[in-house]
Amino acid sequence: MPLSPDQSRILEGWMRSKAIVHCPLCADSSWKFAEASYVRALLEQGDTDLTEGGGLVRVSCGNCGYVALFDAETLGIRGLWDQGRSL
Ligand SMILES: [Zn+2]
Repeated sequence: MPLSPDQSRILEGWMRSKAIVHCPLCADSSWKFAEASYVRALLEQGDTDLTEGGGLVRVSCGNCGYVALFDAETLGIRGLWDQGRSL
């Protein structure tokens, strides 16, 4: 599930505020914010859904493909997500 433009902006701003600018592997600064997404899969049937609590957001490095995962609650975008789904 891709992030909304608002959520992408919040993710980018949050990473900057924590000085997470460069990829930890290749040191490039080309995070693909436009393709950042919410993670819910990676589960086999019957597995406990570890994202149930706050959800996870993934963003990948455009240079080496390293994938960073963040807790959506900490990012502060979970509320926006819920609004987007009009729950
Ligand atoms: Zn990288």
